[in-house]
Amino acid sequence: MFDSLSSKFAGAFSALRSRGKISEKDIDATTADIRQALLEADVALEVVESFTQAVHEKSLEVLPTLQPGTNQAQAIFDVVNKELTQILGGGARRVRFAKSPPTVIMLAGLQGAGKTTLAAKLAKFYKDQGDTPILIASDLQRPNAVNQLQVVGKSAGVPVFAPEPGNGVGNPVKVAQDGIAFAKSKLHNIVIVDTAGRLGVDEELMKEAIAIRDAVNPDEILFVVDAMIGQDAVRTAKAFQDGVGFDGVVLTKLDGDARGGAALSIAALTGRPIMFASTGEKLSDFDIFYPERMASRILGMGDVATLAEQAKKAFDGDSAKKLEEKFIAGEDFTLDDFLEQIEAMSKMGSMGKLLGMLPGAGQMKKQIDNFDESEITRTKAIVQSMTPLERRDLKVLNGSRRARIALGSGRKVSDVNALVDKFSAAQKMMKQMRNGGGMPAGMALPPGMPPMPQGPKKAAPIQKKKSKSGNPAKRALENG
Ligand code: GDP
Repeated sequence: MFDSLSSKFAGAFSALRSRGKISEKDIDATTADIRQALLEADVALEVVESFTQAVHEKSLEVLPTLQPGTNQAQAIFDVVNKELTQILGGGARRVRFAKSPPTVIMLAGLQGAGKTTLAAKLAKFYKDQGDTPILIASDLQRPNAVNQLQVVGKSAGVPVFAPEPGNGVGNPVKVAQDGIAFAKSKLHNIVIVDTAGRLGVDEELMKEAIAIRDAVNPDEILFVVDAMIGQDAVRTAKAFQDGVGFDGVVLTKLDGDARGGAALSIAALTGRPIMFASTGEKLSDFDIFYPERMASRILGMGDVATLAEQAKKAFDGDSAKKLEEKFIAGEDFTLDDFLEQIEAMSKMGSMGKLLGMLPGAGQMKKQIDNFDESEITRTKAIVQSMTPLERRDLKVLNGSRRARIALGSGRKVSDVNALVDKFSAAQKMMKQMRNGGGMPAGMALPPGMPPMPQGPKKAAPIQKKKSKSGNPAKRALENG
């Protein structure tokens, strides 16, 4: 989402880093570059002005404290990081829970902003934490909204209170009221009320939202906004703030490639924190919004904290522990373990998204965009076409076995060979690490990440002796 902003910031800092000793003039130039980058990214003018002014002032404050021979650019970078975190809302606030349940969360926003999708994501998020949320279908305007909420509620495994068919039929205020009463009677501790939007801000829309608000007295009103709509996002946010009012913001469609700067302005302009972010159509494409992590991503430092959290979620405790024990006991990492890991990685989302969280991802954008997600499915198919023995012991893979695997997985024998080669390299590397060789350079894994097989580029290079045998099984033996 913030790729172009990110690469402009990277440009500004690389110019600064090229200076050993930083002068006031360098700070002026960097601030001007940052200003330009923010404007081009569609960040609202007043936010750009106050941000660049703060960065300029604070950089000048630290300037006299910078010692010769130290990394002076880093000190300025830290100032920018801190200010950027600040405009994104500073320390994120969490949803306030009602003293006596249920906690009522009302969603407001334009049609198409992603409210219905978000309702289910939010419900799943809380359900996974042991809460007992229920959804209320008070969007009786948008065609199919009630049905859609029922469908997404079902996939989230959360009940939906939907007594009216919608499509213009039914009283949304009454549905909301009855829904709260129903939730109380069934002891649900969180109620999420989906409301109708319109294509643009209009009086009718605001009146209905206000009536629902007054009827259910929500603990939190979340304004849901599509981050792709540019400067309109700011105008809409202000209209909702003056109309129904809201306590927090949810940015949706952060997976898009629009400039997105307007979305960055909302927290600063409304004084309301961005509380959640939605990054795709799937229920799992959702997370708490952490201003410091977003700042870190925009500044090209990646978001290793989120990556590690997702890894922890995807690799369930048992399988990570089993793998660790195997590793310590000196057992080989097998293709079965590999398959388990690929499956866990798939649960974490697309490889493109995962890679995008690594430091420096901005500079690898092209490679990340071109990453062929189906390669993972193809790799899985090859492993799944192997017998348990073959997965445990690559050495048995002679020519005819490889031909059978290729046929079974719909791949070429050369693909099977390539996978086996890559995998033996990874196995070898893990042995090296176990024997005290340490991690190869550049292979630091984020905390919480179990050991993962790596492709040959990162693995220790294998010295391929020229094989005397045309038999792949013998060759494999020669390679150890
Ligand atoms: P509502 O009118 O506010 O209830 O909006 P919907 O929940 O129906 O969302 C409108 C469209 O945006 C749907 O097609 C959703 O699948 C899609 N959508 C919602 N959130 C996201 C997101 O974070 N990323 C992407 N790419 N699409 C989203």
